[in-house]
Amino acid sequence: MLALMTMRFVHETLGQRVRFATGQAADGVAREVEALGAKRVMVIASPNRVALARQVTAELPVAVLHDEVVGHVPLPVAERARDTATAQGVDALVSVGGGSATGLAKAVALTTGLPIVAVPTTYAGSEATPVWGITEEGRKTTGVDHRVLPRSVVYDAGLTVSLPVDVSVASGLNAVAHCVDSLWAPHADPINTALAAEGVRTLNASLPMVVESPEALPGREQALYGAYLSAVAFASAGSGLHHKICHVLGGRYDLPHAPTHAVVLPYVLAFNGPGAPDAERRLARAFDAPTALEGLQTLRLRLGAPRSLRDYGFDEWMVHDAAAAILPAVPDSNPVDVTTTDLERLLRQAWEGADPG
Ligand code: NAD
Repeated sequence: MLALMTMRFVHETLGQRVRFATGQAADGVAREVEALGAKRVMVIASPNRVALARQVTAELPVAVLHDEVVGHVPLPVAERARDTATAQGVDALVSVGGGSATGLAKAVALTTGLPIVAVPTTYAGSEATPVWGITEEGRKTTGVDHRVLPRSVVYDAGLTVSLPVDVSVASGLNAVAHCVDSLWAPHADPINTALAAEGVRTLNASLPMVVESPEALPGREQALYGAYLSAVAFASAGSGLHHKICHVLGGRYDLPHAPTHAVVLPYVLAFNGPGAPDAERRLARAFDAPTALEGLQTLRLRLGAPRSLRDYGFDEWMVHDAAAAILPAVPDSNPVDVTTTDLERLLRQAWEGADPG
């Protein structure tokens, strides 16, 4: 007889329009800006994405194009962007680029309330979350505020073909990390679990296609779609152990965001997996592998994924310091109890690129 379990959860669905159409970014952005009734747009793009941003926003009433975009959004950078928005009297923000460009637009929206239209060009997924982050004197502060959730997102896989393979791999594994971590994050629920499982399935199938044929659109489209699913799952579930670890590593030692996620994920999965059998089974199914960890490691091997934190500026002396900073942030929802010794072991393994477990 089927045992009926009581299902109880609180799930918040975020209000945002998503346009997904390859080759249609300029048209999609124009429609979204028109829908906002905006007359003076501030375009935010990294210096190396400016030419692309000009193409995508050619039809818009652009008041200013701001290209001072720096990873992890240092406070002075955020303040200069806010000053520019105020001085130019802008009424909407259009970000074109990866998580860093989206992150700067969010920092401006946080204090001005300006609406954002996001045009993502990596798999970071920040465009689908209400999470902002600003770094001040080596400490990254994050928060959740619905003013920073982009009103709309315009996805065009054609904009991602130029993303170098190594950056695509790290960014794609950042998206996989959103899925995995959302299975045991504080607000994990059946809805974001379903999105996360489908996200893993899609990314597992598409990222190898991106590596094999970086310019082919089918792999790029599926990877972008998987990245969106992963971000929606993460936005709803919140930060689990994996994100808490990477957050400290990024803010405290200025480690690059996506490669840090790519390296740390298998160690968190090896640590948490035994305490989360349901998540482990779902992930194994999504990876189409005997176990979740085997699935992730097979994917990482196919992608030539980043292996050790020491390749990205993390020194051995930081292990102890980082573990102490991470411990107070470990969510109560974590399926396994976490001690400083556990964190030190995990970080040391990630530092040297040892086999997880
Ligand atoms: P990024 O935005 O810094 O981009 C990495 C590099 O790739 C940059 O040099 C960028 O100019 C370049 N690039 C981007 N798109 C390109 C393209 N299509 N072709 C060629 N080059 C391209 O890195 P990221 O990993 O996308 O974002 C990282 C940042 O996003 C971090 O600050 C992180 O904290 C934040 N983030 C926030 C959230 C959130 O929910 N708030 C989620 C994920 C990431």
